[in-house]
Amino acid sequence: MSYLCPVCNGLAVFSQTCPGCGGGLSDVGRLYDYYGPYSPYREIDDTKMDNAYPDRQRHQCLHTGWCPQCGEEHVVIVKEWTADELNAQKDAYE
Ligand SMILES: [Zn+2]
Ligand SMILES: [Zn+2]
Repeated sequence: MSYLCPVCNGLAVFSQTCPGCGGGLSDVGRLYDYYGPYSPYREIDDTKMDNAYPDRQRHQCLHTGWCPQCGEEHVVIVKEWTADELNAQKDAYE
């Protein structure tokens, strides 16, 4: 069973609120894209395995949300969907 992040795949809108002020966070990308100049050359699964989050087992995609009010970044966990869930969502759009 494969899992995909609906936000990365454009199937869901990133909507999270800031824990500090309750304002809307804007998605500034996947957390993995932040790991310096070497990370783009690494496999995604490889990166997942050695960061601090057990997201590979839990099928979660880590995004970075930016709050313009607080000027802070917050890690946002997006639950990944199974292929079945993705297909159901696609059907709903058609
Ligand atoms: Zn994602
Ligand atoms: Zn805020």
